[in-house]
Amino acid sequence: MRKLHLRKQILITGGAGFLGSHLCDRLLADGHEVICVDNFFTGARDNIAHLRDNPRFELVRHDITWPLYMEVDEVYNLACPASPIHYQHDPVQTTKTSVHGAINMLGMAKRLGAKIFQASTSEVYGDPAMHPQEESYWGNVNPIGPRSCYDEGKRCAETLFFDYNRQHNVQIKVARIFNTYGPRMHPNDGRVVSNFIVQALRGDDITIYGEGQQTRSFCYVDDLIEGFVRLMDSPDEVTGPINLGNPGEFTIRQLAEQVIEMTGSGSKLAFKPLPQDDPKQRRPDITRAKEQLGWEPKEPLSEGLKKTIAYFDEKMRSGEI
Ligand code: NAD
Ligand code: UDP
Ligand code: UDP
Repeated sequence: MRKLHLRKQILITGGAGFLGSHLCDRLLADGHEVICVDNFFTGARDNIAHLRDNPRFELVRHDITWPLYMEVDEVYNLACPASPIHYQHDPVQTTKTSVHGAINMLGMAKRLGAKIFQASTSEVYGDPAMHPQEESYWGNVNPIGPRSCYDEGKRCAETLFFDYNRQHNVQIKVARIFNTYGPRMHPNDGRVVSNFIVQALRGDDITIYGEGQQTRSFCYVDDLIEGFVRLMDSPDEVTGPINLGNPGEFTIRQLAEQVIEMTGSGSKLAFKPLPQDDPKQRRPDITRAKEQLGWEPKEPLSEGLKKTIAYFDEKMRSGEI
């Protein structure tokens, strides 16, 4: 059974996106008031359309690179395009969102004495020389490549969070999120799980970049959101950074084969060039999350894929994608 919480006023930046919309659902279900702030760069009204009539839900269109004044108890800072296609579309805006956005949200948390959560990323580890990645690892990041606007923006945001904590006593919660998938992923943002499922359902070739031997660890969205809430509700001394992800590690080729099998698709594998700076391997060490939050993911890849395939299948049948 879920714990009863005092009703809080909670701001979610990027609340109309993939993860943000699931977080809106979860916090409303827990009885809180949720203000979703989004500029709709990659988010969709569709993701939150079902919440429109909820009296505890409010939607504000705003770009967090500009100051924002409102009164809240907690802030979840998720605003930032997350897929390489999206964050490379306007790389300067991506860095501004991570850096100016963090400064504005931290300024707000400081003024209000509010707790603030940062959606950081496994990309702070870059193409990691340590495997699996522990939070103590400083990373291997190219500062001037096509992925840098995202990786370095998120690294600078972490710096800002820890400096606001040390300098201004702001209560911070920094999560390093590993690849996550589930319903409401964008069908066209080029991320591997959505790409493979949509290609398999359409009977198109499955596009494997490189030889498909690079690895990723995929976390189902509900597991991740549980980790977010546990981190926000953890004792003050738990600041993170804390890895949230599923340690199950698969090659991209294995993922392709599993999607083909589960969809019963006749799609063939098509090998394409590997993008620049594509990390060769990625798997979280989640010892810290287990110890400090009592959290670990529960959903096996096969179960999560089943729900994600069902979501895309329905969207295709209804002609929405
Ligand atoms: P998403 O693109 O679906 O959501 C991001 C949301 O932020 C969108 O709704 C977008 O419109 C909004 N946004 C972007 N720039 C903004 C700005 N300047 N002002 C206001 N809103 C803005 O991505 P997601 O997968 O839901 O990711 C959410 C967060 O989690 C991001 O910060 C991302 O970096 C982080 N993250 C996600 C993953 C993952 O696997 N999905 C992994 C690591 C980290
Ligand atoms: N800020 C904001 N909302 C608030 C409080 C501050 O957007 O509720 C912005 C403010 O415009 C400033 C930034 O957050 O640019 C950082 O605030 P801080 O108080 O740390 O810095 P200062 O205002 O002293 O530069
Ligand atoms: N990838 C792939 N085919 C695709 C999309 C992605 O082989 O159609 C690969 C990509 O090169 C990377 C991995 O899958 O090695 C994960 O890519 P994604 O963009 O989902 O996440 P990230 O690289 O940010 O972890």
